[in-house]
Amino acid sequence: MNDRKNGTIFLANYTPFPFRIDHVDLAFHLHPTATRVRGKLTITPLAEAEDLDLFGEALTLRHGPLINGDEVIFEPLNPRLPPFAEGIRIDWASIPKDTFELEMEVEIAPQSNTALEGLYMSKGMYCTQCEAEGFRKIMYYPDRPDVMAPFTVRVDGSHPVLLSNGNLVGQGDGWAEWHDPWPKPAYLFALVAGDLAAFSDRITTMEGRDVALNIWVRPGDEDRCAYAMDALKRSFIWDEEVYGRAYDLDVFNIVAVDDFNMGAMENKGLNIFNSKYVLASPETATDRDYELIEGIIAHEYFHNWTGNRITCRDWFQLCLKEGLTVFRDQQFSADMRSPAVRRIEDVLTLRARQFREDAGPLAHNVRPESYIEINNFYTATVYEKGAEIIAMLRRLVGASGYRAALDLYFDRHDGQACTIEDWLRVFEDATGRDLAQFKRWYSQAGTPRLTAHLDQSGTALRLILRQETRPTPGQPDKEPVVIPVSYGLLAPDGTELLPTQLAVLDGPELVLEHDLSALSDAAGIAVPDRVVPALLRGFSAPVILEHEASRADRLVLLANDPDPFTRWEAGRSLAKDVVSATVLEGDTPDPTWLEALGTVLADDGLEPAFRALVLALPSEDDMADSLARSGAVPDPTAIHWVLEETKDAIAEALGSQLAQLFEAMAVPGRYTPEADAAGRRSLRMAALSLLSRGDDGRRARELFAAQTNMTEEFAAFLCLLRAGDADAARTFEARWRHDALVMDKWFFACIAQTPPDQAVARATALTEHPDFDLTTPNRFRAVMGGLTAGNPAGFHDTSGAGYRFIADWLLRLDPKNPQTAARMSTAFETWARYDADRQDLIQTELTRIAGAPHLSRDLAEMVARMRAAPAD
Ligand code: ZN
Repeated sequence: MNDRKNGTIFLANYTPFPFRIDHVDLAFHLHPTATRVRGKLTITPLAEAEDLDLFGEALTLRHGPLINGDEVIFEPLNPRLPPFAEGIRIDWASIPKDTFELEMEVEIAPQSNTALEGLYMSKGMYCTQCEAEGFRKIMYYPDRPDVMAPFTVRVDGSHPVLLSNGNLVGQGDGWAEWHDPWPKPAYLFALVAGDLAAFSDRITTMEGRDVALNIWVRPGDEDRCAYAMDALKRSFIWDEEVYGRAYDLDVFNIVAVDDFNMGAMENKGLNIFNSKYVLASPETATDRDYELIEGIIAHEYFHNWTGNRITCRDWFQLCLKEGLTVFRDQQFSADMRSPAVRRIEDVLTLRARQFREDAGPLAHNVRPESYIEINNFYTATVYEKGAEIIAMLRRLVGASGYRAALDLYFDRHDGQACTIEDWLRVFEDATGRDLAQFKRWYSQAGTPRLTAHLDQSGTALRLILRQETRPTPGQPDKEPVVIPVSYGLLAPDGTELLPTQLAVLDGPELVLEHDLSALSDAAGIAVPDRVVPALLRGFSAPVILEHEASRADRLVLLANDPDPFTRWEAGRSLAKDVVSATVLEGDTPDPTWLEALGTVLADDGLEPAFRALVLALPSEDDMADSLARSGAVPDPTAIHWVLEETKDAIAEALGSQLAQLFEAMAVPGRYTPEADAAGRRSLRMAALSLLSRGDDGRRARELFAAQTNMTEEFAAFLCLLRAGDADAARTFEARWRHDALVMDKWFFACIAQTPPDQAVARATALTEHPDFDLTTPNRFRAVMGGLTAGNPAGFHDTSGAGYRFIADWLLRLDPKNPQTAARMSTAFETWARYDADRQDLIQTELTRIAGAPHLSRDLAEMVARMRAAPAD
């Protein structure tokens, strides 16, 4: 039976695989255009009268299939398509009743594989990417995550380094053999062959296992691996200390690859990384790059338990491994760095990516119920909202309940392919809690809106919380979800009247009552005439808080709240009001707001990184989103210029303070990437960026010339570009032409910092640059993202040229790399928030893409979803 119905796959149609794969034996003879892969599968039937379905794509069958040495009859899996299109089916009549061996040999062409899925070549090296369904481009196989088996892999090839999963069990001239004893789904298979150099270390686990650690890179890049290695060792230790999880093989290999569709991949014992998330040196990587490397190294390592040892039953359960692993990497980063700063950064990403997705035509459940192309569901909703759900669970059951549930999860499900039901059951069993309603977070799309009203009569205080979720595509009616609301109360002088409480809103409305005279007595102050609520401390739930706090109340929170998140949030909402009022009514920035910013900046008791976050204005996309939510039609050009003016106003009002900070935050001595130094630099660079508006560019020019480290060099470069310094662009290019990762930054920045009315022309010119390369996703994303994310006003130019440019390039990329084309198409997902003319222009491009011949399943699905109205 084929699981596709009219091209769509449904969660409800899941059926278990009727065979067990006892062992997989693979032998590769590598060749760029004719790699031979021999497979021998040991299989035990588990049911009577079931066909054996094996997926396969772009495979040339050279030999077999043989069962116990004899040829067997097979049919195409899809009767309308040949076997190399979807796979083969072996009729149950040919299948023995007991354990048997299935053998076959296929041929594949890694060199012409530009989709970067399956076995492909990147700058002369062979590598693989199998998640989600890439293994079927390597061998006919039951390529589904609930089929787990131990693998033995022999690689024959002329390259000096030949790697696969597990432990090395033999090697000789031109070959190596690997054995992975841990049963795994095919999506975790990996193979790498190339002329690579290792940066090596060792670690001993808490179980006493001595593990060899290697980071494999192109010769010459070994001196840029130290930070990734350090992060890897800290990840090993942290997972032992915090989750009691130790590593389980004798070697852990990481390989850096230049051509990669995503960030990194957790293949068992052989993680493969986009080189941008491995290689770092002070001269080439920014503080932000270091932070991302640390987080992604940890993320992939943590998958060894949450993803690999316990995997997903089917791809609808993707959040089981991704939401949990994101949550774990966020916890890790919070422990390694400042928890307050990390939380704010995580919320910024959640809002920028997930809230945006949830508000438009691509909104979907954290656990989707159907898909056409699974690659399209590696989304912010599955990852980031999936992680927020786990953070809420932990808040609800407490740290010890959480640990007990996780212990039970590892105990009960090690070696299994699981579902969200299994996950929630361990929480119910370990804590006695009923999570039936909580489960709606997995099955209901859209961001809940939380409204709060404070009612004060005499000394009786009532805080009324209400929730509502608007319709999303295919889900017109919404039920209330379980929302943990952390809150406290302040007096107008900043005294805390009520320390943090956790209220749980699980119906449409919840009323919380407090006795103001008792609270004031306890706090040792007179009964205040008004109370300032601090709501959603720590951002305790992924909701939109709609609370009409007065400007005065928000100033109180910004200056006083003990919770850094609410403090920052108050400042952010004041900033949004200022910018909105300027966009909509032509106001000028409120002097009390500028003054409050100055007070925060001057507060040396606050971490520099926190102060930098308070100083940063909302992004253009964030402003467009806020205006749209408040019922206005955002004008991207107006937003761009108002934000520029607002920055000018801050620079003017706080100039001398910023100049002082710029000096005071200088980090003496050698560059180190750790959080304190990075935090100081972030405040220093925030000051520089504002100062460079009024200081004739002297500071930026000096810093740009000094080349102390990439964080400062690049920040200075951005200032110069913004000021229109074309020489700086040429200088930077000449300096870094040899370094692809730095040049990606250059491509992005050149487009992002161009005035909006020239941005499309600049982007077009850069596609003619000799180093522009369609088939390297990092470079493609740098140029396209430079326009869509870096220069929204340019992208949304009323001529429609930005939309046309992106659509043209998506159509060019699609035949080569559908996965990346589909992912970049989300630039259009916000179309419904704009005016009718822009909507028409975007829809025209979406229609043009949809009508193109031979569109990939990936891009076709995305465009079809985006062409529909956002909520029908
Ligand atoms: Zn992951």
